[in-house]
Amino acid sequence: MKYAACASVILTVLLAGCHVNLTVDTPRDSAVIETREGPSAEELAATTRVVVLGTGTPIPDRYRAGSSIAVIHRGEAYLFDVGPGSVQNAIRARYKHDIPSLYPSQICCVFFTHMHSDHTLDYPELAFKLWWRRSRPLQAFGPAGLRQMTDAMNAMMATDTRLRTTGAQPVADPEMYQVNVTEISAGVVFQRDGIRIEAFDVNHGTIKPAFGYRITTDDRTIVISGDTAYSEELIDKARGADLLFHEVISDTGLARNAPQWRDYHRQAHTPGNELGRLANIVRPKKLVLYHGLFYGEPEQGVVDEVRAVYDGDVVLADDLDTF
Ligand SMILES: [Zn+2]
Ligand SMILES: [Zn+2]
Repeated sequence: MKYAACASVILTVLLAGCHVNLTVDTPRDSAVIETREGPSAEELAATTRVVVLGTGTPIPDRYRAGSSIAVIHRGEAYLFDVGPGSVQNAIRARYKHDIPSLYPSQICCVFFTHMHSDHTLDYPELAFKLWWRRSRPLQAFGPAGLRQMTDAMNAMMATDTRLRTTGAQPVADPEMYQVNVTEISAGVVFQRDGIRIEAFDVNHGTIKPAFGYRITTDDRTIVISGDTAYSEELIDKARGADLLFHEVISDTGLARNAPQWRDYHRQAHTPGNELGRLANIVRPKKLVLYHGLFYGEPEQGVVDEVRAVYDGDVVLADDLDTF
């Protein structure tokens, strides 16, 4: 009932024919700085959980932040992309779902699928959010271009880091805003403590490299498509997955586009009917649609497009959904 704390409760009292509205403001929880030595015993014992932090696209959407999916394993949060708005959603998810590793300065790692802005714009937000309270640097993995983006981000924030480290602010480690960057190619890019993360090439038109990720933990296999057209490589990597998170573009929405845009989207994204065909081959335990390009079509229509050719379990994710 934490959210009740931020609600304004309206009590309607009916008294012998007279009608009175009483508004009672209940206090919100105060924002706090969270630090921890490491995950609790409870976090270490928990099964793998996935929290969707952003399901959007470049198109401004009042309900959906930019692309971001968090895999929570043994008290660590591994983020896949950080599209605009997703770090604020991580804060919401931290309290809504009681996941301490989603507190921004506790987030250990981010893996980028590709360098498009709808997947990267919250990278500075993640790296610089309360950086002076970090106890370890953020780790970032992604395609070529990530180093350049990180250097440019540090240059952009140089005044902030100078002001905080040369004045009266008691900053324990003035280097903690620095991100440990690894530019990757396809293959196993991370392995630790019962989690294995493999990047694989997908087919995002002329945008190369573009990766999908296969995440294997002690209890689950999760595959994240990133942005891709129909991909044989993804089919191969997604076999046996418990959860397949896949992008989609509405068939009917696609038809609303001008011819050049239709051509571009066909090269770069997966229409609903083709995703259904792909899902029939992969047969994941659950197919979760995200990064949906609807172009004004009713959102559920894209689920119907997939279901028209696929009879398995399929849902369209919303921000903050957990799996
Ligand atoms: Zn995208
Ligand atoms: Zn893209």
